[in-house]
Amino acid sequence: MTRTKPAVLVLNTGSSSIKFSLICLQDRAVLISGQAQKLGLKDASLTVKINGGSEVLKLGTADHAAAMEKILQAIDIHRLSGRVSAVGHRVVHGGEKFREAVIINEEVIRAIEQCVPFAPLHNPADLMGIAAARRSVPHLPHVAVFDTAFHQTLPEYAYLYAVPKRLYRDYGVRRYGFHGTSHRYVTQEAARLLGIKLENSAFISAHLGNGASAAAVLNGKSVDTTMGLTPLEGLVMGTRSGDIDPGMLPYIAESLKMTIKEVINLLNTKSGLLGVSELSSDVRELQEAAAGGHAGAVLALDVFAHRLAKYIGALTVSLPRVDALIFTGGIGENSALVRAKVLRRLGVLGYRLDSAANQAMAAGKQGLITTDQSTRAMVINTNEELMIALDTATLL
Ligand code: ADP
Repeated sequence: MTRTKPAVLVLNTGSSSIKFSLICLQDRAVLISGQAQKLGLKDASLTVKINGGSEVLKLGTADHAAAMEKILQAIDIHRLSGRVSAVGHRVVHGGEKFREAVIINEEVIRAIEQCVPFAPLHNPADLMGIAAARRSVPHLPHVAVFDTAFHQTLPEYAYLYAVPKRLYRDYGVRRYGFHGTSHRYVTQEAARLLGIKLENSAFISAHLGNGASAAAVLNGKSVDTTMGLTPLEGLVMGTRSGDIDPGMLPYIAESLKMTIKEVINLLNTKSGLLGVSELSSDVRELQEAAAGGHAGAVLALDVFAHRLAKYIGALTVSLPRVDALIFTGGIGENSALVRAKVLRRLGVLGYRLDSAANQAMAAGKQGLITTDQSTRAMVINTNEELMIALDTATLL
């Protein structure tokens, strides 16, 4: 065991899962990674990936704390515990308190607790992960890296909703934005690839995974974004509706005899691509079905692309020019079809798809997908774990 090449253990905790990766700070290599799944259920498991191979361990009814112990055991078995110099935790909502990453102490925990109403699914899980990891490795520094922090540079006119100002002053009702770690990483990477200075750059970043958001990023700072008080606003997502008319809420509640909470659950879990296609929330599955003539799948992909193109137009207003539109996340990086559908709608803004380059953008590749005459659009592979590791290291 050696401490000469320190590494950061990055943790991303969900309500029934913990994703982990141990990242070497010197060469940015992932030393070991994996995921504990179905925590709290009967058949929890832990997948561990190392040296190109993977193994699955059964964890029975393990909870987050038990899974964390198993993750640390796996790191130990592979003789890597001596390398772990800190733990970086992804935290979804940091409210207005956190503009950047912080070392976790009791005050930080209380602040994350205060943001639970804004991210009722995510923040309690993040707190469980933090508690389990601090219990297991109390001697290490623990750092919180917030999804919301990057968007704290939004100007007031972009983050305020047009509702009585008292709701902001007294209850914190404003647009916070999410996926900040990804938007920050891909805009830095795009500037590097294009050979332009981040401090003099203008990007639109579209992070398209199961959750999806886009942001306008000027000179390395977020100036507008599509997600709001909660991660439900904005783009169409796998199972989330994105924007709706709030007037719909009482109408749905009355029609389906639901409470507001149940309606919100419907908008979070039964809507988006799944709701429109009546088939699947998964773009890969929808693409296959669309190719076979499934009308619902075709429509869902068009609704998705239309909303995204509309928002790219809207975000352009916050920038003096566009150095590049960035596609990232599972869909942005892998779906040539979605990228083509979006860019074909954006001709008015000068985007011209290079179909060959778009099709050739296979998994793991990144670069431009537009012609020389076009406003640039490109694919960048996001790496939120690396960004969290680097942020964590900065604080040590
Ligand atoms: P999460 O937000 O959960 O991290 P991801 O970023 O992994 O999600 O994105 C998942 C989405 O990416 C799914 O809709 C999936 O179908 C899509 N996706 C992944 N690979 C491909 C592919 N090769 N072609 C089309 N879509 C893909």
